[in-house]
Amino acid sequence: QVPLKPGRSLMDWIRLTKSGKDLTGLKGRLIEVTEDELAKHNKKEDCWICIRGFVYNVTPYMEYHPGGEDELMKAAGTDGTDLFDQVHRWVNYESMLKECLVGRMAVKPIAAPKAITLHVLAAFHDLLLLMYFLTVGQCVPCRKYAFLSLLYFLFYSYDWFQTDSLITIVIYTKQKDMNAELVIVDCQDKRLRGEIIVGSYSYLVEVDLDHAVSEDVAVNIAEKVGKVEIILKKKDNNHWNTLGQPCEGHNSFIKRTDRGLFYRKCKLVSKTEVTHDTKLFCLMLPKGTHLLVPTGQHIYLKQIITGTEVVKPYTPVLPFLPLDFQEPSHHDGVHIYLMIKIYSCGLFTQALDCLQIGDYISVSNPEGYFNKSQVQTSEDLILLAGGTGFTPMVKLLNFALAEVSCLRTVKLIFFNKTEDDILWRNQLEQLALKDERFDVQFILSQPTKDWVGRQGKISSSLLSEFVKRSRKDSKVLICICGPTPFTEQGVQYLKDLGYSQEEIHAFTA
Ligand code: FAD
Ligand code: NAP
Repeated sequence: QVPLKPGRSLMDWIRLTKSGKDLTGLKGRLIEVTEDELAKHNKKEDCWICIRGFVYNVTPYMEYHPGGEDELMKAAGTDGTDLFDQVHRWVNYESMLKECLVGRMAVKPIAAPKAITLHVLAAFHDLLLLMYFLTVGQCVPCRKYAFLSLLYFLFYSYDWFQTDSLITIVIYTKQKDMNAELVIVDCQDKRLRGEIIVGSYSYLVEVDLDHAVSEDVAVNIAEKVGKVEIILKKKDNNHWNTLGQPCEGHNSFIKRTDRGLFYRKCKLVSKTEVTHDTKLFCLMLPKGTHLLVPTGQHIYLKQIITGTEVVKPYTPVLPFLPLDFQEPSHHDGVHIYLMIKIYSCGLFTQALDCLQIGDYISVSNPEGYFNKSQVQTSEDLILLAGGTGFTPMVKLLNFALAEVSCLRTVKLIFFNKTEDDILWRNQLEQLALKDERFDVQFILSQPTKDWVGRQGKISSSLLSEFVKRSRKDSKVLICICGPTPFTEQGVQYLKDLGYSQEEIHAFTA
């Protein structure tokens, strides 16, 4: 993110797009753009970019781009789809850039044999990726098993059967570590959508059901064999001839990044103050939805703000920090808690703050790259958080203390501006008193004169003082999250202090 000039916020952009000004220079005409034509528009003052076959004139948007002009210029005059997907595929560019649409890319005539070769090559490439995904780090017999699994993947499919009252859809994933977080089901208004996450791939079952079902959906998982069952209750006990009409994307096994984000409407059931500017929002999933957000992952919220769809990421937390770890805590499977800072000039958070209890907001499927197994093999876990960068640490902290027996120490180093900004200070201090493995250090960058604790910004000297292994060779994992420069500087300081890339996890978009 770069600082934008005054008058260049997202709200200002939305206003400009609604002003009726001709932003493409084509007076509303849509044209077919050839590759040669696209390539000519590669300067800041004349910059076209293609995303998923549509060409946009992004010159008027340059100064409004939160990532800066240089980032946008990387795709100038070219197909920027991959770059866009890498950085922020969740941004709803169709809505944001609709007034900048120049037209479609002209379809190139391709000779049939070449098309087939490309197709085969693309499939082979995916196959190799899958092979790698399945076999990396495995011994020879495991590789054989993985290869057989791979063959299975090529024919990944589902089955269904019925009794008088139930419809059961069965998917044999052959994933040994299949669990409830990897299955996302939405069944509303006779439409069933079941997505199974398999590494970086996604398998989808999506049909308009033959008959009505009740809102109760059950998901059963046989973890050892990777069998997933989605169980629906028939509304009338009649016999179904088919499961239903397949929708687009039904029965497909594709990369997660190629699957569009799916949203469902959730009800705001409570909103409580955490600090002077931060609130805990509790959202309720609709009946018929099975969705558990894994530790370290975020969701996207979508709202329509003055006619434009705006999407922002948020990291679910727990309703509070559990102090007792007798049993692993379970998601209730119904509520999602979000700790959100309301910025006085924030476009999205101001609109969020206006939501009333009982209002609805769209919530996406989870995303993110955190791998819990990194924690499961660590002896020391160090969490560096800046402001609301605390949010991914909440579930992580709970998971570490409740479920990872090899962890000897867990330390949170929490950077804030003032004492009033510290989120859940009381709960953190209580936890530190209760659990001797856990320690918390608050560091303030703009304290009042009464503050007797540590003062400063993230720096090499502060980190060398607080980030330490409990034993000389202990296995450490350091997680960091906060404002982008905070995270980037922190990672650099840690590397300068000798920590390896594998020992650091930075939460980013
Ligand atoms: P904008 O309209 O974008 O900005 C208005 C002003 O607010 C800015 O000029 C600036 O002064 C301030 N501001 C806005 N965004 C930031 C920022 N990111 N850092 C510092 N100042 C800013 N936020 C939470 O509160 N809770 C979360 O759980 C959370 N999870 C996130 C997870 C991910 C993966 C990422 C990338 C971000 C997360 N955020 C979270 C930030 C969130 O997505 C928004 O950026 C934030 O809510 C501001 O949105 P806005 O539209 O209100 O502000
Ligand atoms: P904030 O209150 O502005 O800042 C928190 C602390 O970080 C303060 O001590 C602040 O010191 C310091 N800081 C801010 N900018 C810094 C910089 N450039 N270099 C060094 N230190 C800096 O933070 P916030 O408003 O809560 O914002 C939290 C951030 O976390 C947001 O940017 C949000 O997007 C991000 N976040 C990311 C994720 C994720 O998963 N990726 C999840 C949640 C939140 P100063 O006095 O210097 O400002």
